[in-house]
Amino acid sequence: MAERVVYIDYTNHRGERRWRSIHPRIMRFRETEWHGEAWALEAWDLEKPAEHGDYGPGARRTFALKNIHEWLEDADVTAWWCSTCGMAVLAENRHHVSTNRDDPGGVHAADTPVRDG
Ligand SMILES: [Zn+2]
Repeated sequence: MAERVVYIDYTNHRGERRWRSIHPRIMRFRETEWHGEAWALEAWDLEKPAEHGDYGPGARRTFALKNIHEWLEDADVTAWWCSTCGMAVLAENRHHVSTNRDDPGGVHAADTPVRDG
C-alpha cells in the first residue's frame, strides 16, 4: 500500500483545506455530489477505514481535481511537521500519539509535508 500513497493538498466542499493521504484509482469526467459535472479522481481515502464494498485499503472517495492544490508522491516527502505537537515526525509516523500536553493521548496527523531539497 505505502508505495502507492499520494498526498494531496485539498479543499473539500465545506472549504476545509488540508493534506490528505490517498491511493488513486481512476480519473473520470462525471457528475459529482458537490461540484456538478467535473473531472474527478476516484480514490481510496487512507485516513478512513474501508467499509463493506470498498475493496481497497481505505474508504472510496471522490476528489474534485480542480480542488487539488498540490500533489506529492510518497518518495517526495521525507518528514511531516506537526503543528499541534510542534515537532517534525518521520513520514511513517504521520499519524501519531500526541505529545502536546493539551491533547493527552490523542492521535492526530501531522499537517505539513517536509520535502527533499
Ligand atoms: Zn502531533
